[in-house]
Amino acid sequence: QDILKASLASLGVSYKDINYLIISHAHGDHIGGILNERGENNFPNATLLIDEKEFAYWQKQDNQRTKDSLNIFTKKAFFNHKKAILSNTLEILAVPAYGHTPGHNFILMRPSDKKAQQDMAQSLVFWADMLHIYDIQSQNPQISAVYDVNPTLAAQVRAKFLKQFKSEKIPVVGAHTPFTKPVVLE
Ligand SMILES: [Zn+2]
Repeated sequence: QDILKASLASLGVSYKDINYLIISHAHGDHIGGILNERGENNFPNATLLIDEKEFAYWQKQDNQRTKDSLNIFTKKAFFNHKKAILSNTLEILAVPAYGHTPGHNFILMRPSDKKAQQDMAQSLVFWADMLHIYDIQSQNPQISAVYDVNPTLAAQVRAKFLKQFKSEKIPVVGAHTPFTKPVVLE
């Protein structure tokens, strides 16, 4: 059962239509869908977009499937943190939030139009794995999960960005949040 494939199909999009794959970090629950059961790339026309530190880290780890998943792309570009990684009517930015993994990023989406950017309700942060247990860590950002490669750095990053997202009132959602639609943090 390929849930992602089915969700895309409901939008009239197939894997072959995907031009870019933005990878927040390379844990198995985030990149496990790249290879099909025959070890081929499900996204043959996609350019892999990833943090250079994240890519380098996994090349040194003893996890062949992760290496295979990242190395199967013929087109690859590392995040440029100084500007949008993709832009059209929307801008997509990768923002370093290291600690969970050495090259973990969250993804910021906002209108390209500078005036529209003032309205935070039109922006969205996907914070990937900045938090794992929302009810505990949103109140106690100093608590890290065992999945955090560098728990101290992960805690600092979590505290800093939770504060920022609250004060900016920007809608947020994560990979392990109890909500699947973006919320503005109280
Ligand atoms: Zn993770």
